Formats: sequence, C-alpha cells, structure tokens
Amino acid sequence: MEIYLDNAATTKPCREAVSAVMECMEENYGNPSSLHKKGLEAQLTVDGVRKIIAKSIAADPSCIYFTSGATESNNIAVIGAAEIYGKRKPRIVTTSIEHASVKKAMEYLEGKGFEIVRISPDRSGNITHEAIVNAVDEKTCLVSIMMVNNETGYILPVRRAFYGIKKKYPECITHCDAVQGFMKIPFKAAELNADMISMSGHKIHAGKGVGALYLKKGVRTESRIFGGGQEKGVRSGTENVPMIAGMGAAVKKFSRDINERYSEMKRINNMLRQRFGETDGIVINSGEECSPYILNISVPGIRSEIMLHYLEEYGIYVSSGSACSKGAKSGVLSEFGLNDRLSDSALRISLCGENTVSELRTLAETIEYAKGRLIKSK
Ligand code: PLP
Repeated sequence: MEIYLDNAATTKPCREAVSAVMECMEENYGNPSSLHKKGLEAQLTVDGVRKIIAKSIAADPSCIYFTSGATESNNIAVIGAAEIYGKRKPRIVTTSIEHASVKKAMEYLEGKGFEIVRISPDRSGNITHEAIVNAVDEKTCLVSIMMVNNETGYILPVRRAFYGIKKKYPECITHCDAVQGFMKIPFKAAELNADMISMSGHKIHAGKGVGALYLKKGVRTESRIFGGGQEKGVRSGTENVPMIAGMGAAVKKFSRDINERYSEMKRINNMLRQRFGETDGIVINSGEECSPYILNISVPGIRSEIMLHYLEEYGIYVSSGSACSKGAKSGVLSEFGLNDRLSDSALRISLCGENTVSELRTLAETIEYAKGRLIKSK
C-alpha cells in the first residue's frame, strides 16, 4: 500500500505526461534551433505547449517562456526585473512567507543595496491586500507575492493587492509565484493584474526540471544566463523539449476540470479537518479559507520527523514543513504565529485529485494510533 500525500513537494507524473515525454525522446529528439526538419518538429512541439499553457491562463502564447522550473522562473522574474526597473526605484515589496526561491533572491538584492519590505501575517494569520498596497510607494519597482503558501495552503489576496497597486502605481511591476495555485485555483493572467507569473511542471503531474514564466507584453527582465538566446533571450539554453511536451500534456489534462477538482478536494479536506478536529492532541494550523490541497497540522509532543518516518513505515508519505528545505526550519510557520512546540511537530498533508476519502481515513487512524504509541513510549 502506498498513500502519497506530499503533492505540494512533487506529484506523480500522469500517464499522459509520461507518454508525451517518451514519445518526444524516442521520435522528436531534434534541437528546436536546428534548421532542418527534426529541428522544426521540436520547435513545433515547444510552440504547441506554449499555446496550451497560454490558454490555461488566458494569455497570449508569445508571453510564455520555458525555464528549468519555478526556482528559475522566480529568479529571472525577481532579480531580472529588479535590475531593469530598480535603477531609480530601489525598493521591493514582498511577504515574509515566500518560497526560498523568492526569499533568497530578495536577500541577494538586499545585498546589492535594494530596500526589501517584507509583509508578515497579522495577528489573525492574514496578510491583507491593504497591507500590501499600503507598503508600496513611488520608489517601489517591484512587488512579488505568492498565490498559495506551500506550507500552510494560505491563499494570498494577490488579485486585490495587484489591482490596488496598479491603480496607484501603474509602473510598478507585479510578480506572482503561482506554483501552488496553477491548475488548482483558476486564474487569468490579465485578471490577476500580474506582469510576471511563475509556474512549475512537477507540481502538476508533469516531470521535474521544467517550468514556465509568463511575462506580460512589454515587461523586460535582465538576462542572467548568457548563451544562444533561446526563449527570446530570457532564458538561453537548449529547451528541455521532452519535459516541455510532458508539461503540455499535464496542463491539457488538468485544465479541463479545475473547479470540479477544487470542490472534491474541499470535500475530502473538510472530512479530514473534521476528523482531526475531533481528536484530542491534534492542532490544525491551516485556516478554513486555505487551499483545500494543503492541510498543515501539529501533533504536539511528537517531532515532525519522528511522525513522518512512522507514517512512512505504513506506506504513508507526508512532509514536515516545506519539502524544499529538507526538514530545515523555513521560519514560515513561526511567521504564521506558531510557537516552537507546534512548529517542531508540524506535518504538511498535501493532496492531489487522485487521493481518496479512504486514504485520508487511513492517515487519520494511523496518526491517532501513532500518537498513543509514540507519546507513551517516550
Ligand atoms: N514556489 C513555490 C511556492 C513552491 O512550492 C516551489 C517548490 O516547492 C517552488 C517555487 C520551486 O519550484 P521548482 O521545484 O519547480 O523549482
């Protein structure tokens, strides 16, 4: 038995993505930059997927750029835009709960002399759109806000914040790390008022090492990778055609029923919430308004890693904190007001459309059983 509940870390590639990757590797192995037929075929594949991704966020295909993943998309967006637009406006607004790929990019820019304003959740654990808009001034070149927090599932008010910012400061560039929202929460690039949007393949049942960056027409980024000028110079390097093909197949598959899947995730998440809510000694850290794909809980008294490995023995896979940080504390949970006891025992359960009520019941029963055993045996 295998119950995989770590979908915010990575997802199992879907059959359609695997077939597209295989087919591409076996048949369509040309370099998109080559001038012969094999090159053209590869270029057509890449451009076909560009159209699929563009359609999924109601954007023009010319605005989609392929990258090696969302870490690279975020770095190109944040650092690349700051270098162009920050020369006379060296101030950037972000939040204190961003993924490391934005957080570390901000620290780099801080070292280069940028003023970074980080908005933290308020006492009720919220970051309001007013707080974001009010932090922006005429010296702000860039605002970078994630769509869904990867550790708690907290949904940030990106749409309202970006709308307010663009109304007051139309020149200010807006970036959204949409990794945990893409294919889960429907959004359109224009309605989001985002100039730049980062997406990742392996979080949506495609392969690892592929991502995309939406750049609104006219928005520029300073390139940090020098080479053949692929992807209109935004990201030099031969395109990862097989993985791009796989991402296209996954987006095609999952963009069809985002709303239906969201409702189903809400239903099974609520069932789990209720179950944990009725169990003594389990604290639910994700508010009800969070993305139903992520549920963060704590079992005070049992360290996350101990519980994680206990569950693993039963074939159940969850995460402690953020998987990207290999168990290292990211500090995001304490930003949400969790004390050390809760942070140290936090587990992230993250779902995908294939998870079932019965799997979640097994998880809940195993945690309840573990609680009895692990706390007693201490
Ligand atoms: N942004 C968020 C919110 C994420 O959850 C992740 C991965 O965990 C990333 C960015 C990085 O994505 P990738 O693994 O494609 O580099």
